[in-house]
Amino acid sequence: MSDAAASKSGTCPNGHQFPVPDWDGTQPMTCPTCGETVSPFGVVFDAVQIRVGARVTAKDDSYPSKSKVRIDQKFGFEPSQKTDTGWAPVRRTIDKNEDIYEEEVCDEAGNVIHRVKEPLSKHQGHGSAKDD
Ligand SMILES: [Zn+2]
Repeated sequence: MSDAAASKSGTCPNGHQFPVPDWDGTQPMTCPTCGETVSPFGVVFDAVQIRVGARVTAKDDSYPSKSKVRIDQKFGFEPSQKTDTGWAPVRRTIDKNEDIYEEEVCDEAGNVIHRVKEPLSKHQGHGSAKDD
C-alpha cells in the first residue's frame, strides 16, 4: 500500500533532521550529525534541563502537498507539577489515515498519568484548533 512510499524523519535537540525509516518511537535514536541521543521516554532527566523532543512524520506523496503528512508523532517534555523535575514526557500522535488523536503524558517512571484518545476530526472541533 502506501507503506513503501512513507518516509520518516526525526529531529534531534539541536535541530538536525535525519531519516529514521524503521523507528517505531520506542527506542532511542542517535543523531548522525552531532551524536545527540533522542529518546522518547526514559530520558536521563538530571542531564536534560531543557525541553527536548523528537518528531516523526510519515508522508504519502500520493496526497496533495498540504495533506502529505499522514502521521505526525511528537515526543517531548511539558512542564508538570506531578514530577520532581517539573517536566513530564509527552507523546502526541496525529494519524490522519486512521482519524486518531492520541496524547500520553507519563511520570518519570514511565507510568501514564494522562491519556487522551479520540477521533482527530472530533478533536479539531474544539479548543485552540478552531481557527482552522
Ligand atoms: Zn543533531
